[in-house]
Amino acid sequence: MSNSKAPVLTPWSRRALIAIVITTSVLCVNVFLFHLLPKFVDVDNVSWLSWANNPSVAYWSAIVGLPIVFIISLFGLHRQRHSADGKAEAYHALARELSQVANKSEIVINAIGDGVVATDNKGVIQLINPAAQTIIGWGKQEAQGLDYRSVIKLTNDKNAELDTASDPVQQILQGKPSVSRNDLLLLTSSGKKINVSLLVSPVGNFNNGSIIVFRDITNEVSENNQRTEFISTASHEMRTPVASIEGYLGLALNPATAQIDDKARLYLTKAHESAQHLGRLFQDLLDVSKSEDGRLKNEPKLIELVDFVRESTSALELKAQEHNLTLVFQPDVTENSNNSITPIYHVEVDPDHLRETLSNLIENAIKYTKEGSVTVNVTGNNNNAVVSIADTGIGIAKEDIPHLFQKFYRIDNTDTREIGGTGLGLYLCRRLVESMNGRLWVESEAGKGSTFFIELARMTSKEVERQQNQFGIPSA
Ligand code: ADP
Repeated sequence: MSNSKAPVLTPWSRRALIAIVITTSVLCVNVFLFHLLPKFVDVDNVSWLSWANNPSVAYWSAIVGLPIVFIISLFGLHRQRHSADGKAEAYHALARELSQVANKSEIVINAIGDGVVATDNKGVIQLINPAAQTIIGWGKQEAQGLDYRSVIKLTNDKNAELDTASDPVQQILQGKPSVSRNDLLLLTSSGKKINVSLLVSPVGNFNNGSIIVFRDITNEVSENNQRTEFISTASHEMRTPVASIEGYLGLALNPATAQIDDKARLYLTKAHESAQHLGRLFQDLLDVSKSEDGRLKNEPKLIELVDFVRESTSALELKAQEHNLTLVFQPDVTENSNNSITPIYHVEVDPDHLRETLSNLIENAIKYTKEGSVTVNVTGNNNNAVVSIADTGIGIAKEDIPHLFQKFYRIDNTDTREIGGTGLGLYLCRRLVESMNGRLWVESEAGKGSTFFIELARMTSKEVERQQNQFGIPSA
């Protein structure tokens, strides 16, 4: 068997060969110009060709010119080749780097404990990592190339399939920046329903696809439900005896119903305050567990916000007086002093939720203000109405603000230590405002007072008209 190989030219010999061809061509031109041309053309009579009949030009151009042409072509070819080699090398390096990055990303994605699924801009699955395959029970080969809805079957907590508007993946494919949900259920390939925590983000710029990251939180949800149920039952059971203790202590402290000496009055007053505190704690715990286990009903009604907030504010007038504070309802002040009329803001929310939120926030403003005033205002624009509750109280330090709406969070400093509370009020307010699809936030500075804001969607006059025609004129 012959093992013949075609002769391989080295880069330099190939370049030399091309340089020789170029030099030979130049020699041919030389021969043509200095030997053939004078034979056919009378170059002496053509002024710009007279040099062609000069033997020394022919001689020197051949002796000096041809080696120069050879060397220039040789190095010209070398440089050209060199830059081509450089480009090829750069391309190879880039390709190597990209494949390394791709390998690394794949290693990372495969090692992540959370399920990761990537889709293109039409929702077709392009990537599914091993954790996602384990959670939903679909193999990589089966899932890739399918519409995500055939693989990631999501339902809401009432087991209803998600429509396009509420499907987080559709929201991303339609241009939303990122969506996070903890309230969805996912149907696995074996027909099991699991609770998932889900984060969907867009890939790069708009309309390039989506990345779905999710994790099974069934155990966490079930533990949380058990905890909430326990707290709810315990608070319910304990609220009744505490209410009874509070009632009897009230009777003991009432001079019309009992005669006690000053020392006993002092002790009983303290016991009464503690019983009241305990009663409030159980009530707050009950409200919180209701809001967490889905028992919190949401029954939106058409409300005229200014009248509604005025009513909630005036209900706390007495409490503000007891603390020597002025409680101001700003729309009334503005109307009286400027002779102007406050705009009407209609919202459609659950009145009980709004009343509870307002009274919690105004009570807090009174509780955490030693002197000065609490001012309640209603403002807004075409889309939103905003209620603000501003106080001149102790204020809140910057580092506490992010934790303020967490369960049981109380700021512990010399100003707050003496003031009773459960740390559940703001947490509950946040849940209530969220259930009304609103927003709750605070602006504050330690020592300079705080302002809490509730933002709610404002109804257009057409929507209000339609509602009024359907259900009649609302009351505040
Ligand atoms: P609490 O029952 O302790 O008042 P909240 O959840 O209502 O519980 O409030 C949490 C913490 O936020 C409070 O302990 C208090 O330190 C702070 N806080 C709430 N409202 C105000 C306010 N208007 N001014 C200053 N601090 C406030």
